[in-house]
Amino acid sequence: MSTKRDYYEVLEVTRTASTTEIKKAYKKLALRFHPDRNPDDSEATERFKEAAEAYDILSDDDKRRRYDQYGHAGVQGAGARSAGGFHDVSDIFEAFGDLFGGRSGGRRSGPQRGSDLKTSIVLDLIDAATGVEREIEVTRRTACEHCSGSGSEPGYDPEVCDYCGGHGQVVQSQGFFRLQTTCPACRGRGNVVRHKCKVCYGSGREEETVTRTVTIPAGIDTGQHLCLRGEGEVGPNGGPRGDLYIEIRVNEHPLFHREGPHLLCEIPISYSQAALGARITVPLIDGQDTLVIPAGTQPGQMFKLRGKGMPDPNGRPRGDMHIEIKVVVPKRLTDEHRELIEQLAEIEHVDVHPHQKSWFEKIKDLVTGAED
Ligand SMILES: [Zn+2]
Ligand SMILES: [Zn+2]
Repeated sequence: MSTKRDYYEVLEVTRTASTTEIKKAYKKLALRFHPDRNPDDSEATERFKEAAEAYDILSDDDKRRRYDQYGHAGVQGAGARSAGGFHDVSDIFEAFGDLFGGRSGGRRSGPQRGSDLKTSIVLDLIDAATGVEREIEVTRRTACEHCSGSGSEPGYDPEVCDYCGGHGQVVQSQGFFRLQTTCPACRGRGNVVRHKCKVCYGSGREEETVTRTVTIPAGIDTGQHLCLRGEGEVGPNGGPRGDLYIEIRVNEHPLFHREGPHLLCEIPISYSQAALGARITVPLIDGQDTLVIPAGTQPGQMFKLRGKGMPDPNGRPRGDMHIEIKVVVPKRLTDEHRELIEQLAEIEHVDVHPHQKSWFEKIKDLVTGAED
């Protein structure tokens, strides 16, 4: 106790100093001995605590009066937040945080997380169905090798910013309002680089291009994203990297039309296959399958092959393959072909013509508005 310095001496103010002067003096000292600016400096930490204790007493009218009258003994116990002053630095931030503008907001900007990056990969449908590995090149900012990210030419250290005293924040008073903003001189870093690194010109970061292998899961669809954690840009002041987001686009396939997990494929068959029924081979995304179509299958009729569509990237069941039947009319006929079809036509005329007639009658009725 006897080694305690006089509080006015600690704050370097006169015994008649006003509350404003005391506050100002304390702020100055607090910033000078701020633990952020004096890492691993126990003496600075002690000075920081000492100043806080002095401010705690002298900023309070009642405590100050007792101190003036009885010295340290007058405020013992009543002083500070605990008998022996502040236990640790976080107590001080707790008590006087608003002087600094709050603990987090007021301290000089430390390392910040880097930005996320975005890129895209274009796949064809077969790769999307099977899953694939792709190499991508990413150009991103990384810590400058020459200055190890400090921005200062090796041999020189960044200097404490004069404008904000290393605080990173400045308070501007406008009438009654106190506006706290990021220091314009150092942009919140709290220090300035006077001897800029020759490679990065003081930014502490430089560009690099790296190659990464991306594992694309089977079944991925257009618009879905993959994320490579920690592969984005390095942050300011040595902060951790952001993430790398990869947007997936899947190209249209000439044969298979995709609807989410399902696929649609048009299969051409002949008139005779449609009429008589057939076993036909249909292509799948990963092979082929046999589809039995019954006699009398109509153009546009749909068949479903369950579970033969796209796989699901999240492990849900596969989608379906929908087959749409197209009946194809031959463009050129061999003589034999023609003969047979002419015979067919004769039979159909006999059989089908009456139906056709009634069908035409119906159309006529509809067009003329006649009633049956
Ligand atoms: Zn500054
Ligand atoms: Zn550099």
